[in-house]
Amino acid sequence: IAALRLEHVTLEYADGTHEDGSPRTVRALDTVDFSAETGTITALVGPSGSGKSSLLAVAATLIRPSTGRVGLADRDLTHLPEKELARLRRSEIGMIFQQPNLLPSLTAREQLVLTAHLRGARGAELKTAAAEAGDLLELVGMSGSADRRPHQLSGGQRQRVNIARALMNRPQVMLVDEPTAALDHNRSQQIMELLVEVTRRFDTATVVVTHDTEFVPLADRAVTMRDGRLS
Ligand code: ADP
Ligand code: ADP
Repeated sequence: IAALRLEHVTLEYADGTHEDGSPRTVRALDTVDFSAETGTITALVGPSGSGKSSLLAVAATLIRPSTGRVGLADRDLTHLPEKELARLRRSEIGMIFQQPNLLPSLTAREQLVLTAHLRGARGAELKTAAAEAGDLLELVGMSGSADRRPHQLSGGQRQRVNIARALMNRPQVMLVDEPTAALDHNRSQQIMELLVEVTRRFDTATVVVTHDTEFVPLADRAVTMRDGRLS
């Protein structure tokens, strides 16, 4: 079953005005049909400006498409109110960006527990979340650093914490934008292997935007964007 579906999605950004004063638009996505299956990892490649980040942003429900539909499992998200979309983003969609975006004052474990707190966990549930956080940090190879803060971690370690944090939500879908852009070759390889491993283990539909064509063979399939279209 396709955990994530984009059907005939077109996205146009407002981009100033023409000389005659009429609004100008940039078509970032042009009639895109895309789906990602549970338990698989898809590499999304293509030149800069081709629409990869826009596709992720629409899939993440951060931007509504101009036309077309977005579906999560058997639900059509097209007309869901913003409040409901925000709830989905906290529970069913995991997002991992190039820069891990961790809070400087929190330890690795606290970063994960905060996710549970934001989801509404309190009291005993938070204790369970702290234990869960420990398990996830171990899974991503960070059990020795659970009590460290971001400045005490290397770039690769921060990205591992970021991945563990995204998994706290038990997402059906994981959207990953250039996770290795700030890392050297070996660390990049390890992070990509970790993404494959968690995709299998947690049965997520994972989509990874990457410039590193050498990591494409690690994915189950690759799709290429060009000028807002998928080929
Ligand atoms: P990629 O991720 O492949 O580099 P993007 O999705 O970022 O591509 O961009 C696709 C197109 O949309 C590009 O032409 C880009 O300049 C344009 N674009 C992206 N974001 C905006 C925005 N907020 N406003 C206007 N144009 C944008
Ligand atoms: P990476 O390529 O994973 O970012 P680095 O080359 O930056 O790794 O770091 C190598 C090792 O040094 C890491 O495994 C990490 O344990 C340690 N390290 C890096 N930065 C710090 C820091 N600010 N404080 C403590 N240890 C660090």
